[in-house]
Amino acid sequence: MNEDKLLNKEKKLDYVSANGETFGEEKIIMIAGPCAVENKEQIFSAAIGVKQAGATFLRGGAFKPRTSPYSFQGMGIEGLKLLKNAADYANLKVVSEVLSISQLEEAIPYCDMIQVGSRNMQNFELLKAIGKSKVPVLLKRGFSATFGEWLYAAEYIMSEGNCKIILCERGIRSFDPTTRNVLDLSAIPVVKEKSKLPIIIDPSHATGNKNYVEALSLAAVAAGADGLLIEVHPHPESALSDKDQQLTIEEYKNLVTKAKRVALAVGRTI
Ligand code: PEP
Ligand code: MN
Repeated sequence: MNEDKLLNKEKKLDYVSANGETFGEEKIIMIAGPCAVENKEQIFSAAIGVKQAGATFLRGGAFKPRTSPYSFQGMGIEGLKLLKNAADYANLKVVSEVLSISQLEEAIPYCDMIQVGSRNMQNFELLKAIGKSKVPVLLKRGFSATFGEWLYAAEYIMSEGNCKIILCERGIRSFDPTTRNVLDLSAIPVVKEKSKLPIIIDPSHATGNKNYVEALSLAAVAAGADGLLIEVHPHPESALSDKDQQLTIEEYKNLVTKAKRVALAVGRTI
């Protein structure tokens, strides 16, 4: 291969900023919210709670990539409108996932950042469209993707002129079903060595179990993560998707308090 990859360029890239906070600098950026937007009460409670805890971005799926076609598929555009209203109310930025180019066009007016999920990391047409759109993007690692494949996915977006990319490690598939996936924390030093892109960690999808989310969040901060993406639901027990891994607002507040101490120890803030 003989490519002059944009990923390796020395110049400072056009990083994603929100409310004056830029991914990849001293402040560790917190993204939180439910797996899916379910109704107005749920997303407004989540927004207010995660804002109080210290989050900058509200997440919530409106288009859900479910393993089964019979599972809840998300509220679609109505969900995005609720998400945006709740985020505006709580003074948060919005990130939400799209699965296709047509959803990308629908979602852009409501989102500050678009998520490409694990299952779509190599949807090259979607990556190119996101590149052309210049919208900030949170690019998750495919659950069976090598670092090389993941970074080439980022390169697809960059090659269309969009360098506003945040990489997100969310666990890779392994042999042991005790955790949903295996969180690969080596992604943090590897990505930092091989690219100039910020990297955040999603311990919720990595473990699939709320009991393990805090420990891995603290480890991720200690290892140099530029952000944490954590699923938080006002009533996890009745969530329509990923109920076992979502934290309550109280649990999230406690996690952030502890993460702040670890951040301080490694010269960062939250
Ligand atoms: C999500 O963040 O809602 C999601 C579906 O995550 P992943 O693509 O990592 O499975
Ligand atoms: Mn989820």
